[in-house]
Amino acid sequence: MFGWVLKGRAARRRRGRAAPGCRGCGICCDLYGHRLRATREDLERWNREGRADLLARVGEDQRIWCDPLTGEPLPDCPFLERTGPEEARCRIHETKPEVCRRYPTPAHGGRCVRGVKIDPEPEGSTRGPEEPE
Ligand code: SF4
Ligand code: SF4
Repeated sequence: MFGWVLKGRAARRRRGRAAPGCRGCGICCDLYGHRLRATREDLERWNREGRADLLARVGEDQRIWCDPLTGEPLPDCPFLERTGPEEARCRIHETKPEVCRRYPTPAHGGRCVRGVKIDPEPEGSTRGPEEPE
């Protein structure tokens, strides 16, 4: 009867769920998505996964995100998709950069820019908007 719900939850677990507390509003992405840096682990993972589309958007000093043709920094994260006034989706949720996965850090007091307390990261979870069902 609730098979579709369970199936959806299982899929979310496999993909990695948004961290407990995160409302998926995408405000952090709006504010900071234009001045991130990829880590060496991100680059290695994207290489392994064959994500030439992401690697092409890594600029000097591992800055993300950049125009793949000019190398110039982009004004916004190109992977943020607004799905509602307070709802957004990360189009690369399954392999988003570490900086997005780890936000907010203990240096932020565990609270995101909205002041929302985000619980310590359980295995496989990520911050920021998650892929919808
Ligand atoms: S971490 Fe905060 S600002 Fe970012 S999507 Fe979640 S609730 Fe919104
Ligand atoms: S979580 Fe996704 S949409 Fe948000 S800044 Fe990171 S890559 Fe962009």
